Amino acid sequence: MHDYVGGMNAPASPAQQPATTPSQRQRKPDWIRVKAPTSPGYAETRKLMRELNLHTVCEEAACPNIGECWTKKHATVMILGDTCTRACAFCNVKTGMPRPVDLLEPEHTAIAAAKMGLSHIVITSVDRDDLPDGGASQFVKVINALRRETPQTTIEILTPDFRNKPESAVAAIVDARPDVYNHNLETVPRLYPTIRPGARYYASLRLLESVKRRDPSIFTKSGIMLGLGEERMEVHQVMDDMRSADIDFMTMGQYLQPTPKHAKVIDFVTPQAFDAYAQIARAKGFLQVASSPLTRSSYHAGDDFEQMRAAREVQLARVKAD
Ligand code: SF4
Repeated sequence: MHDYVGGMNAPASPAQQPATTPSQRQRKPDWIRVKAPTSPGYAETRKLMRELNLHTVCEEAACPNIGECWTKKHATVMILGDTCTRACAFCNVKTGMPRPVDLLEPEHTAIAAAKMGLSHIVITSVDRDDLPDGGASQFVKVINALRRETPQTTIEILTPDFRNKPESAVAAIVDARPDVYNHNLETVPRLYPTIRPGARYYASLRLLESVKRRDPSIFTKSGIMLGLGEERMEVHQVMDDMRSADIDFMTMGQYLQPTPKHAKVIDFVTPQAFDAYAQIARAKGFLQVASSPLTRSSYHAGDDFEQMRAAREVQLARVKAD
């Protein structure tokens, strides 16, 4: 799974039932606590998703922001089913053999976006290592359906790494021209073997670099979780790596342990430390940076997209003037 959410006392999937009780879980600092979702907007979004047989990463990954986002009718649709072929140590999405691809999913996603009146939509997916193209063609179909049904909606995709899949898989998605292509590095390279064992840090970086090379007009975006035991200098190195791959937008948020079977939180990074990281990232040249304990890839994604677009215009105007 590719949005580093989790932590809202998630109902564990059967394969991930807790071995300890909730009282044994780590106590969260005050700046992490969020209210339980109860608003009418939340109920409406939930109903619509059920009616259209759509999954959201908001629910599957137990995102702590679900109350706020769904009240504002902002949800991140998770395509290609609810079962992932990988088993990352931080992710709450269930692992197993996925069901066949839902052929109605592209149309249903577009209907949901139109009904919710979304100006910006984020589409993500589980990993589908079982499919020859890793599910890339479904991303293309979803993008095309959205362009048809709701052409004013800007589209952000958050994809798997398409590791061991033909290069044409990613190329086809890029050629469908999403507005933002996001793929999360998730953590520093040293922690990959334990946190993201099925992936390779440099392969993920190369994927983002290849997107930018194929279509420089597409914004690229990536993020990491903090609190998994990474060192400050390692985070700075990730920023440099991202910039060398010409990534436009970096996100940083606190890792929260979804269930006791997942990787432990090593430390809760303070809001001040998140601000300090944001300052450093901006100095390194990202067009946009989001960094706070509750930042997630898709949190406030629409507003951030607008700001990023404006920042690029300023940058282009400066280049012209020189
Ligand atoms: S931050 Fe993203 S994943 Fe979390 S509730 Fe909001 S839209 Fe969903």
